[in-house]
Amino acid sequence: GVSDLGLPPVLPRHRTRRLNVGGVPVGGGAPISVQTMTTTRTADIDATLQQIAAVTAAGCDIVRVAVPTTEDAAALPALVARSPLPVIADIHFQPRYVFAAIDAGCAAVRVNPGNIKQFDDRVGEIAKAAGAAGIPIRVGVNAGSLDPRVLAEHGSATAAALVDSALREAALFEEHGFTDLKIAVKHHDPRTMIAANRLLAQRCDYPLHLGVTEAGPMFQGTIKSAVAFAVLLGEGIGDTIRVSISAPPVDQVKAGCHILQSLGLRPRKLEIVSCPGCGRVQVDIHRLAGQVEAAFEGFPHPLRVAVMGCVVNGPGEAREADLGVSSGNGKGQIFVRGKVIRTVPEHLIVETLVAEAMALTAEPEDT
Ligand code: SF4
Repeated sequence: GVSDLGLPPVLPRHRTRRLNVGGVPVGGGAPISVQTMTTTRTADIDATLQQIAAVTAAGCDIVRVAVPTTEDAAALPALVARSPLPVIADIHFQPRYVFAAIDAGCAAVRVNPGNIKQFDDRVGEIAKAAGAAGIPIRVGVNAGSLDPRVLAEHGSATAAALVDSALREAALFEEHGFTDLKIAVKHHDPRTMIAANRLLAQRCDYPLHLGVTEAGPMFQGTIKSAVAFAVLLGEGIGDTIRVSISAPPVDQVKAGCHILQSLGLRPRKLEIVSCPGCGRVQVDIHRLAGQVEAAFEGFPHPLRVAVMGCVVNGPGEAREADLGVSSGNGKGQIFVRGKVIRTVPEHLIVETLVAEAMALTAEPEDT
């Protein structure tokens, strides 16, 4: 496909096998899905479902919940039954929670074999249970949870070490005839993470889950993730993404959606084209852009809305926008499809833009 500007978005996708995560296809050329993890106590079913509803509205495709306790495992059946999104159980230490998650009807299970004691002995049973339930398993490693044997061999969490560790885990499942696997190798350094995923793409055809782990606070973390994902997705590598920033799940999802939209890999709904401001600016452009963004939150139609700080260059710079405003002298010139249709006082700019956007996207009425 091509983006809405007619630019080819990325190189052809790296061929991976197709998984079904609770009805969401992952890999094999399926649209790249966005994931996040809830931050509520999983055992608090109502709070967790509320958060899942919020991330669903923000564009999330698959949600992961941590299962650190028996109470969390016990909440899984109710969560799975009521969640609008496929639920992946995230399990670190206890194989018995893996079986509980499979029994609960989770769409997939994420295990971290480097962290599960005696994991090697239990793989056969896990493979059998997941195989019988028809659900995929995500294996993989973070730099912090590398298989100690691999760490000893490589000396540190290099890209090659991450890949060896992940493929060794995959091989444990393969030995039991289980290949319904998704792989993630995460590192906080985008360069190591990029190198590791390139290696993985050469060495296997499992769908790849991209993530820069512990990417940091919102600003730094979003940029680190965007840089790493853009390089990899631009090369056709990656089937599902998670932006692991220290910010609420909704923000992680928004960041993930923006990254895919920027690469033309997900249709854009609303795009705000706003100028940075310069010495000609005649309005508090940063504030106005934020107000417009907030007013259009969740707007369901694909529109490009321009917010420009002056009337001199505004409309010209925003020629490709569907509608917009150029500010000056305490007023806003509202333009639609390149033509100024009216001028309103500054305090009416936002509501006028919303009204014009609704008029532009309204269904034609029957006459
Ligand atoms: Fe400067 Fe006007 Fe361009 Fe904004 S639209 S950057 S204020 S010239």
